[in-house]
Amino acid sequence: MTQLERVRTANAVHAQVSAWRSAGDRVALVPTMGNLHTGHLSLVDRARELAERVIVSIFVNPTQFGPQEDIQTYPRTPVEDESLLARQGRTDLLFVPSEQEIYPHGTADIVTVNLPGLANELCGRFRPGHFDGVASVVLRFLNIAQPDFLVMGQKDYQQLTLLMRMLEELHLHTELVTTATVREPDGLAMSSRNQYLTPEERQVAPLLHAALADLAVELQQDAAAFQASRSAALEELERRGFRPDYLELRHADDLSMAEPTGLGRARILLVAAWLGRARLIDNLLV
Ligand code: AMP
Repeated sequence: MTQLERVRTANAVHAQVSAWRSAGDRVALVPTMGNLHTGHLSLVDRARELAERVIVSIFVNPTQFGPQEDIQTYPRTPVEDESLLARQGRTDLLFVPSEQEIYPHGTADIVTVNLPGLANELCGRFRPGHFDGVASVVLRFLNIAQPDFLVMGQKDYQQLTLLMRMLEELHLHTELVTTATVREPDGLAMSSRNQYLTPEERQVAPLLHAALADLAVELQQDAAAFQASRSAALEELERRGFRPDYLELRHADDLSMAEPTGLGRARILLVAAWLGRARLIDNLLV
């Protein structure tokens, strides 16, 4: 059982990390936007396997939300989050900075990371600037904590792919480690935004994952018919009340376009769809 300490400043994180490093301890960072669920806790478990010291950050990052997006309503549960982490007993330091701490010059005109073109595809097509905002905040957290490991979930696969590029191209000395998506018993990927679903929508939501699973089987059985299967899957989702943003097959290593009939390279199906006021994303390696 680890004693959980909460700090609010970059200096406090830096001082703690320096002390740990002097003692020869390695450090893993788990960045989150809070409203923690079992998916987040699985990242903490993985972080603890990798490093002697675990930092969890909670920060609802304004620069990754578009002007019409849900930053105002995004669920914030700081008390529950802290007690969840304390009960799990695997986090050493909880970093809960203010907006001012992370963006001392405000958020309107900041030093940003400009990601490559992939940031404008898939989710980026529908959320302009989102991934630049993610990268800009993650880079700040990496500079503050200087962790050996950055632990993130495969649920946000495009985010991972882009951050991997950032770590590599900016020569950062942090290893990105990913963990499998944690799901509800009916297959729905856990997400803070699932709370936006009405009870009726919650019943329907697992169909998103089921659509990917069916499409993966159909791809295996008859790759040449993939485009027809894909269109049928989209139609079925719409019929059940989803408003899909995209459903695509890509190469798993760099998210470049993949051919249904292509062989040899791992591929991934990725989907994003609105259901009521929740935008759900999911993916499946095929
Ligand atoms: P968020 O708080 O939604 O920004 O997510 C923080 C981290 O938790 C990210 O690395 C996500 O990929 C990860 N995460 C979110 N949902 C899940 C899930 N259902 N299973 C595993 N990891 C997740």
